[in-house]
Amino acid sequence: MTERCSRAGCTSEALWAVNWRNPRIHGAERVKVWLACDEHVEFLRDYLATRAFPVVVTDAAAPLERLPEVTA
Ligand SMILES: [Zn+2]
Repeated sequence: MTERCSRAGCTSEALWAVNWRNPRIHGAERVKVWLACDEHVEFLRDYLATRAFPVVVTDAAAPLERLPEVTA
């Protein structure tokens, strides 16, 4: 099965997993994953990074089970 990019309106194949969480509502054990194509991976990562959410981009086939702790 081919995974699709999470960006609204994009139907490209997802090559990247954008692993993130919102520290205000998610515990450290939670990892949300957005899938992204080559074109949108930076957009999605920056979107989260500017909100000071921990975000790590990995291969779409290897999402993280846990994000590094952040000291904000
Ligand atoms: Zn896309």
